[in-house]
Amino acid sequence: MNEKMFRCPICGSSMRVQQLASLVCEKLHSYDISRQGYVNLLSNRSKTKYDKALFEARKMINSSGFFGPMIEGVSNRLIGMQSRKLPESGKPLRLLDAGCGEGSHLSAIGRKLREHPMVPDVLGVGMDIAKEGVVMAAKTFPDPIWCVSDLSQSPFADQQFDYILNILSPSNYSEFRRLLTSDGMLVKVIPGSLYLQELRALFYKGTGKETYSNDGTMELFSRHFERIEFEDLRYRVMLDSEQVKQLIHMTPLSWSVSPEVIERMTDGEMEVTADFTLLFGWK
Ligand SMILES: [Zn+2]
Repeated sequence: MNEKMFRCPICGSSMRVQQLASLVCEKLHSYDISRQGYVNLLSNRSKTKYDKALFEARKMINSSGFFGPMIEGVSNRLIGMQSRKLPESGKPLRLLDAGCGEGSHLSAIGRKLREHPMVPDVLGVGMDIAKEGVVMAAKTFPDPIWCVSDLSQSPFADQQFDYILNILSPSNYSEFRRLLTSDGMLVKVIPGSLYLQELRALFYKGTGKETYSNDGTMELFSRHFERIEFEDLRYRVMLDSEQVKQLIHMTPLSWSVSPEVIERMTDGEMEVTADFTLLFGWK
């Protein structure tokens, strides 16, 4: 455990590992390190909409390859950045996934980075406010450090990360700026206007929500970073009916639709559009 990486989310003081069972700060706020290998840094148990079934669905979709080209795009960008840097001997690349869910994305990107000869060792850290996701991540992927924590009170010291990933998940830009090294980069992935357009057409017919705009997010992002770049990524994926069900289950699109309606809609395979905008920001 890299204890120096952490700071207490309550008082901001530094932390130490105690008897391999907890992280304790100078003022004796204490956080459990679970036997499954994650740290719980939430001072209050907060209820989220994200339950275990939802993360099971996400995990299935992640292993279906639906996100493959997006993962590839993000990884290639990090490798490109990294190969332009001077190698600092023995220093691992530090990568935070803010909103890691069940951990598939961080694990896949970490694996791709490690395969590349230009990349030094990778230290991956995943955090999410939903404990169910983090528990699953720690069980499935033992390698990264997994944390249950709140992004608005993130438990890390200043300038700890070379890269922060924020994939289809809410942001806290002031925290991202605090946590990034001076030449660090934020990678935010947001849905493009055609993301899951086939499902939108089914669920939102006639409601005015058939299309989606990410203009607001782009605008907010560009206000927080000195230098930014964008990249659009669009592709189509054929999913079988079980995968379509899982995809519907894992997306907020479906939260207002009854299971019976979903059952009727997902009879057979379906081609769906993946449309992402990758935002890169430097402070
Ligand atoms: Zn404290």
